[in-house]
Amino acid sequence: MYDCIIIGCGPSGMTCALYLKRAGKSVLIIERSMPGGQMVLTHNIQNYPGIEQIDGATLSNKMFEQITNMGVDVVFEDVISCSLTGKVKVVNTDKNSYQGKTVYIATGASSRLLGIEGEKKFTSKGVSYCATCDGALYKDCVVAVVGGGNTSLEDCLYLANIAKKVYLIHRRDEFRGDKILVDRLKQFEKSGKLELILNSQVVAISGDEKVRSINILNKLNNKISSIEVDALFVAIGREPDTDVFDGVKLNSSKYIEVDEKKHTNIEGVFAGGDVSDTNLRQIVTACSDGAIASTSITSYLSKL
Ligand code: NAP
Repeated sequence: MYDCIIIGCGPSGMTCALYLKRAGKSVLIIERSMPGGQMVLTHNIQNYPGIEQIDGATLSNKMFEQITNMGVDVVFEDVISCSLTGKVKVVNTDKNSYQGKTVYIATGASSRLLGIEGEKKFTSKGVSYCATCDGALYKDCVVAVVGGGNTSLEDCLYLANIAKKVYLIHRRDEFRGDKILVDRLKQFEKSGKLELILNSQVVAISGDEKVRSINILNKLNNKISSIEVDALFVAIGREPDTDVFDGVKLNSSKYIEVDEKKHTNIEGVFAGGDVSDTNLRQIVTACSDGAIASTSITSYLSKL
């Protein structure tokens, strides 16, 4: 029986584990894929205090090394169901069943899909949700990025150093991403290597064994045009991974409702980071949530 089972090995889960371990608690982290969560997909982090510039994979590895050196148990398994309402919390994975006195849910969020013709067919055949992972495959090629948030803007800047040409397609004429990135992008546009296609929506993806072109609807004149591309990078936000947490209260967008101390509606169950109902989703806020949750978990355990 663990003092705490943490589901998700991103910055929030790892910070919570670090603090709990320092408080002398036994901790298990269950992770579906690889440590780091969305952080791994970020190629250049410039807003983590104290570190001017670092790539996401390196920061993830540093955090992971720190917690495993401290003796946090980590298993790479897929959580398929949970029983959370009793005093003993049970977390079932595809391989095992674990028991804990508390659970911290830090599962983050998965890439949102466009839901258009050709998207599923060409996933991994030119359609990608991770420029950092797949960008290098498109050296000197023509690629498009869709989205208007920080991820899409950073992806464009990253891909512009690899590809021959980058199109950025956004459904509005204003960006959701930070001004500093928009300014950098507009500066880069002057080189001719980057082209902004605004007020437009990608409506279909075509190709043969791989992506060859995309159809774009101009929302101002309702005309559809086609451009030839070798890849489409989809960066239109993320959706929370909350399907397996029966009984945990979610908001209308399926994010977990938490109070300021990261309690959910179920005693002994806490949540934080991107999966929770918060208005800022950054590495520092994910870490902060993990630290706050750890003190709430320690206080809950001391009352058991
Ligand atoms: P996001 O901020 O939610 O932006 C998603 C973008 O995709 C928006 O511009 C949205 O358009 C567009 N979009 C959504 N659904 C669409 C659809 N069906 N078709 C076409 N476009 C669609 O997502 P994100 O960029 O992944 O960022 C997620 C969070 O991580 C944010 O809080 C962001 O600040 C943070 N982040 C931070 C950094 C950093 O600080 N270095 C880096 C990456 C991400 P509208 O604008 O019209 O809604």
